[in-house]
Amino acid sequence: MAETADKKDILRGGQFLVKETACEDVFTPEDFNEEQKMMKETVKEFVDREIVPHKERFEHKDYALTEEVMRKAGELGLLGIAVPEEYDGLGMGFVSTMLVCDYISGATGSIATAFGAHTGIGTMPITLYGTEEQKKKYVPKLATGEWFGAYCLTEPGAGSDANSGKTKAELSADGKSYKINGQKMWISNAGFCNVFIVFARIEDDKNITGFIVENDPSNGISLGEEEKKLGIHSSSTRQVFFNDTVVPVENMLAGRGEGFKIAMNALNVGRIKLAAACLDAQRRVIDLGVKYANERVQFKTPIAKFGAIKSKLAEMATNAYASESASYRAAKNIEDRIAIRLDAGASHSEAELKGVEEYAIECSILKVAASEDMQNCADEGIQIFGGMGFSADAPMEAAWRDARISRIYEGTNEINRMLAVGMLVKKAMKGHVDLLNPAMAVGEELTGIPSFDTPDYSEVLSEEKAMVAKLKKVFLMVAGSAIQKYGPELEEHQQLLMAASDILIEIYMAESTILRTEKNVKRSGEDAQKEQIAMAQLYLYHAVDTINQKAKEGIVSFAEGDEQRMMLMGLKRFTKYQNQPNVIALRNLIAEKVTSENTYPF
Ligand SMILES: Cc1cc2nc3c(=O)[nH]c(=O)nc-3n(C[C@H](O)[C@H](O)[C@H](O)COP(=O)(O)OP(=O)(O)OC[C@H]3O[C@@H](n4cnc5c(N)ncnc54)[C@H](O)[C@@H]3O)c2cc1C
Repeated sequence: MAETADKKDILRGGQFLVKETACEDVFTPEDFNEEQKMMKETVKEFVDREIVPHKERFEHKDYALTEEVMRKAGELGLLGIAVPEEYDGLGMGFVSTMLVCDYISGATGSIATAFGAHTGIGTMPITLYGTEEQKKKYVPKLATGEWFGAYCLTEPGAGSDANSGKTKAELSADGKSYKINGQKMWISNAGFCNVFIVFARIEDDKNITGFIVENDPSNGISLGEEEKKLGIHSSSTRQVFFNDTVVPVENMLAGRGEGFKIAMNALNVGRIKLAAACLDAQRRVIDLGVKYANERVQFKTPIAKFGAIKSKLAEMATNAYASESASYRAAKNIEDRIAIRLDAGASHSEAELKGVEEYAIECSILKVAASEDMQNCADEGIQIFGGMGFSADAPMEAAWRDARISRIYEGTNEINRMLAVGMLVKKAMKGHVDLLNPAMAVGEELTGIPSFDTPDYSEVLSEEKAMVAKLKKVFLMVAGSAIQKYGPELEEHQQLLMAASDILIEIYMAESTILRTEKNVKRSGEDAQKEQIAMAQLYLYHAVDTINQKAKEGIVSFAEGDEQRMMLMGLKRFTKYQNQPNVIALRNLIAEKVTSENTYPF
């Protein structure tokens, strides 16, 4: 069961931006308990036994193999980690759910997608929104892998604009069933699933409605051919056609018109789990990359000894470390929030829904950051392999192709970037996150006289923490002024929103990386963490650069004259290092550790 939160004052979603977090208050992968460590080993063994030896078959559209591996995962209980015990799941906490998703997804995107679609969006809507009867009927079968689930939201004309679907649900004259007609597209697991979560519109309702639909070809359900895809070759992706498909009224999920809410909340969970699914994939690419670099000799030298390759390995490891740090930090926040709600008497579904919804901003941030880190990692993996990287006989090619989808599904990265800032502004308006006062304080600081004191940064990571605090001021300065200038019309200024979102993302990722490292320095000392300190510094260095660039873009787009000059001066002040990091030395240190251990060692 989820551990009970001992703190009632954990940060609310989005509050990381305006409140300082102590390193003791973040959860890190080094905090896994014994049960979680055992679970991690179990999953790793499963992947090494059932997936890795068959990598080639996964590249050759062996859909039956995907189904077989999923069934075996079900037998081991891995499909029911998040499902309460009363429905035959393991009822483990959110961190454990993330952990399983992390380690099961690393070897092939085909299983990552099948697993994510089944356990996340295929099962969760019933666990979270189903009636007791619906849960009893479907969830045990889904949790054990006896049945598989799929999620039918997207249509040819309704992708990002998910609420615009044309699929119709019409109530029968006797009021006992709905007849569903419509076409769904890009449906993962369609080829072998037993249950579809289908979203359809009743009459001219503003919002769609969710239904549980059993996959029965004799009930007007037919499938398109398997899509020919760039990657995830053994993940089944097909169109699903509903032609007068009869669904009993008791299979409606939640109420009429509640479907859009269900779809969006299922996606919140899906997004953070997708971030987890990009973690072990990065570790495995780094592992393969460093092994190759240590063995491949050119100019009588292992290529791992070349600065150009060291730089790649260091950056890849740093980004993976950052993605891990932020993913598990947010996962534990969600777990604690769920525990608080359970303690207060909420049902499991209510607690989980609200717990995840609270951190929807972080879920979007993580989805974007981890999917892009994964893509860059695989891309550099190819480069390390040189010509062999381009060959389908070497592993990097598939990793690169498989990585690409994560930037598209579960809400494209553009949509998630806009959502992250949009949700933050909404939270501020509702008074859940106070952006106004901190933004006003930054405004006063800009017009005030800057301090000329030289701060004492002798303590490890103290300058980095001070820098993160300043970066938060950059966000407040840019976003605060933009909101003041455009009000509700801000959403029309997408490029500005995207820039603000990139600032937000970099702050969360950099802060999480620094806090994880600081926590571990306190536990095991500076020397034992010297490479992790270097990674925290390197990540931050890039974050400062990105934030500088994005903030400049934003400021110049909406401010002129004195206001623009003042904000640009503020930006310079807020992104200035007292001690400029020697990033080449940092990369060398990190690369040395990765190459000497011949794996991703963190
Ligand atoms: C392999 C695969 C598996 C999938 N699995 C499933 C599944 O199981 N179930 C399911 O329901 N769906 C699934 N999908 C669908 C997926 O979620 C959608 O493809 C995705 O949401 C994007 O929708 P779209 O393809 O229609 O692109 P569009 O919405 O047409 O977007 C095209 C481009 O325009 C951008 N864009 C769109 N709207 C805006 C806007 N308002 N502002 C700025 N930019 C915008 C997008 O970011 C994107 O870059 C899957 C897709 C793939 C490829």
